[in-house]
Amino acid sequence: MRTLEIKTTSSKYPVIVGPNCLQTLPDFLKNRMNQLSKILLITDSTVNQLYGDKVLHLLMDTPYPVSKFVVESGEQSKSFQQFIDIQTYALQEKLDRKSLIIALGGGVVGDLAGFVAATFMRGIPYIQIPTTLLAHDSAVGGKVGINHPLGKNMIGAFHQPIAVLYDTLFIKSLPSLELRSGFAEVVKHAFLKGESFLQELISIEDIEMLDESHLAEIIYKGIEVKAEIVGQDEKEAGIRAYLNLGHTLGHAVEAEMGYGKLSHGDCVAVGMLFAFSLSEKVFKVDLNYVKIKSWFKSLGFPVVIPDNLLTEDLISRMISDKKSTSGQINMVLIEKPGSVKIEQFTASELTNFLESWRE
Ligand code: NAD
Ligand code: ZN
Repeated sequence: MRTLEIKTTSSKYPVIVGPNCLQTLPDFLKNRMNQLSKILLITDSTVNQLYGDKVLHLLMDTPYPVSKFVVESGEQSKSFQQFIDIQTYALQEKLDRKSLIIALGGGVVGDLAGFVAATFMRGIPYIQIPTTLLAHDSAVGGKVGINHPLGKNMIGAFHQPIAVLYDTLFIKSLPSLELRSGFAEVVKHAFLKGESFLQELISIEDIEMLDESHLAEIIYKGIEVKAEIVGQDEKEAGIRAYLNLGHTLGHAVEAEMGYGKLSHGDCVAVGMLFAFSLSEKVFKVDLNYVKIKSWFKSLGFPVVIPDNLLTEDLISRMISDKKSTSGQINMVLIEKPGSVKIEQFTASELTNFLESWRE
C-alpha cells in the first residue's frame, strides 16, 4: 500500500493505492472527520452487486449512519435527472453540511457523486473509491460534473475530494474492454512523464496478464503524473491542458460514433496516435510512431478511425470542443516523451493533416 499526497491551492488530500487499502476507510473516517453527521454512499448497479455490501459493512463499523444510492451503470447516469434524484434523496435522508458523500465506482459515479457533493448545500466533502482502471485518472484532480444533451461534461465544478482510496483488488472483476480503456490513460500519463515510465509500459504485451503488484505500480505512477500536473494547475489555466493529449480527436471520434460504441480509452488511443504522427511532422522528430502503433494494435486498441466517420464532421466537433479557442484547434503534441507542447491549428490545416493520416 502506498500513499501520495495531492496538494492544490485549495486543498491537500491523500491518495492511497494498493490491495485491501479499503480497509483503512473506517480509521480514516474516525481520525480525519470529526462531527460527521451522515454518510451517503453512491455507486452504480454493477459495482453495487459486486462490492456494495462489502463497503456498506465497512461503513457500518463507523459510528455514522449510512445510506446508499444506486444509479444504473453507464454514461447515461451522468445526467441532470440522476443529479436531481440524488439531491432529492440526500434531502429526504436529512444530509446536512456535516455529511459526507462516498463515490464507489468508475468515472461515471465519481463525476456524478462529486458534482452532487460540490453543490449540495453549497458543497460538502466526498471521498473517491475508484473501481476502474480509468478512474485512476478521473478520481484525482477534482473535476466533477454531468453531461448536457448538447455536450459531454458541459455542466460541472472543481471540487477536490478529501481522500482517494484506490483498492487495486477491485480491478480483478473489470471486463477486458474496460481494462484496456483505462490503460490508454496510463499510456497518456507515461508520454507526459517521460521515457522511463513509457519504456516500462511498452514492455507490457498483454494488459490482462499484468499481476496485481505490477498493476498497482502503474496505477500509482499514473496518479503521480496527474497529481504533479493538478498540483501546479488546479483550474486548467495552463499545463493541466496537457492531460488532453489524445482527447481532442478522441472526444470527436467518441461523439461521432455515438457514446458507448467505442470505449473512451479506445478513442483516446486513436487520438494519441494521430497526435504522435502530427508531432513527428510538426517538430521533425522521431517518436517511434510505427512501433507504438503496432504495440497499440497488439494490445487490442483500434489504430485507425472507422471509415464511416467523415473528417469534416470530426473537425467540426474539434472546433466546438470547449477547449478550442477562437476558431483554432488546440492540439497537445509531444516533442519527446516528457516534453509537451500545445500547438494551434486552423480547421483547414488540421483537415489536411487528418486526411493524409487517414489515407
Ligand atoms: P464507468 O464508470 O461507466 O465504468 C465502466 C463500466 O465498468 C461500468 O459499466 C461499471 O459499472 C463497470 N465497473 C466499474 N467498476 C467495476 C469493477 N471493479 N468490476 C466490474 N465492473 C466494473 O466508466 P469509466 O471508464 O470508469 O469512466 C468514464 C467516465 O469518466 C466518463 O464519464 C468520463 O467523462 C469520466 N472522466 C472524468 C475525468 C475527470 O477528471 N473527472 C477524467 C477522465 C474521465
Ligand atoms: Zn480521458
